[in-house]
Parts: sequence; C-alpha cells; structure tokens
Amino acid sequence: MSARQAVPFLDLSATHADLRAEFDAVWHDVVDNTAFIAGDYAARFEAAWAEYCGVDHAVGVANGTDSIELILRGMDIGHGDEVIVPSNTFIATAEAVVAVGATPVCVDVDADTLLVTAADIEPAITGRTAAVIPVHLYGQPCQMDAITALASKAGIAVIEDAAQAHGAHWRDGVVGSLGDAASFSFYPGKNLGAFGDAGAVVTKDAALAARVRSIANHGRADGEHVVHPLMGRNSRMDGIQGGVLLAKLAHLDKWNNDRRAAHVRFMDRLSGSVAVPVSEHPEAHSVWHLNVVQVPDRDQVIEAMGARNIDVRIHYPQMCHRHPSLEDQPELPVVEASTPRLLSLPMYPTIADDDIDLVCQTLNEVLAELGHHP
Ligand SMILES: *Cc1c(COP(=O)(O)O)cnc(C)c1O
Repeated sequence: MSARQAVPFLDLSATHADLRAEFDAVWHDVVDNTAFIAGDYAARFEAAWAEYCGVDHAVGVANGTDSIELILRGMDIGHGDEVIVPSNTFIATAEAVVAVGATPVCVDVDADTLLVTAADIEPAITGRTAAVIPVHLYGQPCQMDAITALASKAGIAVIEDAAQAHGAHWRDGVVGSLGDAASFSFYPGKNLGAFGDAGAVVTKDAALAARVRSIANHGRADGEHVVHPLMGRNSRMDGIQGGVLLAKLAHLDKWNNDRRAAHVRFMDRLSGSVAVPVSEHPEAHSVWHLNVVQVPDRDQVIEAMGARNIDVRIHYPQMCHRHPSLEDQPELPVVEASTPRLLSLPMYPTIADDDIDLVCQTLNEVLAELGHHP
C-alpha cells in the first residue's frame, strides 16, 4: 500500500517561487544602499499600503503586536482605562492592552462567525472604557457599521486588529479604513507576510500617525536624530521587509482570491458534514487566513488526521478571558462552547484541489470512525 499523500497546514514555497528574482533584487539594493532600517523600501511600502487600505497614513513597525500597542499609546490609552477585546482572538490583542497598563475586558462572539459584534460589546462599556478592538479573525471582517455607530455614541475609539484580514472588506469598505486606526501584522504566515517580523499602523488621522511614528522611533521629533520630545521605544520596520512586502503586495489580491476559491471547494466538500464551518456573513468579503470548522471529539480528530498525514491545528486553544493573568473576567458562553471544538484545516493560496478533497474526505471518515455520522 502506498503512503497517503501528506497535506501540510501551510506551504508558502510555491507562492514565493515566481518572485525569487524580485526578492534577490531587494536584498542587493538593501546591501548596496546600506539601508537596513526603514529607508526607501519601507517608505515605499508604507505609501503603497496606505493606498491599498484606502487611508492617508501607514507607519511600518516591527510586528503586529507592537502596532496595537503603539496605537493605544498614540491615543494616550493606559492606566485606569478599559479596552474591550473579543475573547476569541490570538493572545497578542490582549497582550498589547496589558503592555500599555490598560485593562482588557473580554467579551463574547457571534456563534456563526465567531467574531465580536456590537451586541457583544455594548453591555461591556463602562465609564472607564477608552476603546474597543474588533478583531477580523480568520480573515473575515467584523460587522463594522454597527460597531462604529455604537462606539461613536459611547465616545470610545475603534481600533481594528486586521492581522489576519489584509484586503478583506465589510460592505464596500476595506479593512484598515473602518475604524479610527488599524493594526496589521506581516508575520510570515499571514496573508501578506514578510521574511521575518513586521507590522503596520494605518489611519486617516495625521496627528495619530505622527505620534505613532515618533513613539516607534525613540520619541524622536520628525527628521531629528537627537531630539526626543516623547519618551518612546524602538519598533521600526526593516528595509528588507519593506522591499519584500512591496514585491508581494502586487500579488495579494490574486492570493486572496485563490484562498476564496479554495474555501468554496472546502464548503462544497463539507456540505452535510458533521464538521461545521465558520460562516461568512453575506455582506462580508473574507480573505480566509484560516479555515476553521467546529467538530466533536476535537483532540481525537487531530490525532487521527495527523496519523493520516494531514496537518491540522487549533486557533486558538487559549480563551483570552481564561488567561491566568487576567482577573474578574465574565463567563462567555459562545467562546466557552466553541473553543474545545475549533479545528483549523489546511489553507493557502496554492493548495491543490486534490488535497482539499483528501482533507475533507479524511475528516468525514475520521468523524465516522469516532461515531459521528451526519
Ligand atoms: C498575528 C496576530 C497578531 C500579532 O502579530 P505579530 O506580528 O505576530 O506580533 C495580533 N493579532 C492577531 C489577531 C494576529 O493573528
């Protein structure tokens, strides 16, 4: 019997293969110009990224956790302030709030999309709430109109965590342009990924962008090397990351469309399955960073899939509101019920149709072996 074909969780080599010459040119330029931090490539990427996101300002920073923290600091949010975050997110969203001394207040999510909604946020608003961070998790944008309407009524800021949603849109608005500021990560595995850590802050607010840029560069005054009006920190984008991201940005829409096409095939092959996919809101255009379903006996399913050479993961096993460092968090029924059932199936732009079929067929077989029949 021949070994079953292996399906990796993520494979970026095929998406990079055609861009090899461009990446080599970036490397040569960076070395020739000795422009290792920020410089021309980072500035060109910032301009292109702001335009892509439909805003005037983008600031390249060191990663997508710093970018949330820098937005909070730029807005003067810190000790004594509460910031509302969905419990179903990557831990970085809450980490950034803790890093500025503010208190994360975790809230529940919608049972179909697993995203935070205005209805989840509203009861958590208090006199101390300074901001809410809607997370466009798995690549799908939150229902932003209702969230921004609620926030403006309550007088709180909206900070999009768009780390998983480059190019997604809610109605006709692209993520990054839907709140007061947005944070992006370019961690290599994200839909737009660098060759190391990188991130960006985008905003329509010129003053906020200038403050973020200064804080991320040791509090320096614009164009000054040894004048520090603010007490800042160091979180800058490398030149090489700017160049790589600029080269890859030209292909982002195609890659996102390929992810969407792959997702359609997954949905077709999983229709009627015991595995329940995250649903896409009819007015959302998801870019499917992750391909998440809910299954019973999740841990046994992962083991059985692994034994059949199919790499599946969990995003995320840690419920933010149950993190040991966070006290006095509420009970959140949707997150508590869904978290033990979450399973991320393979997803990347070049995933082969045969591999999608194999993943779905194997998943249904495994569920049947565990006694779960549709
Ligand atoms: C990846 C990610 C981050 C953090 O980005 P890094 O660049 O890894 O620091 C923040 N929020 C979410 C939702 C993420 O997926």
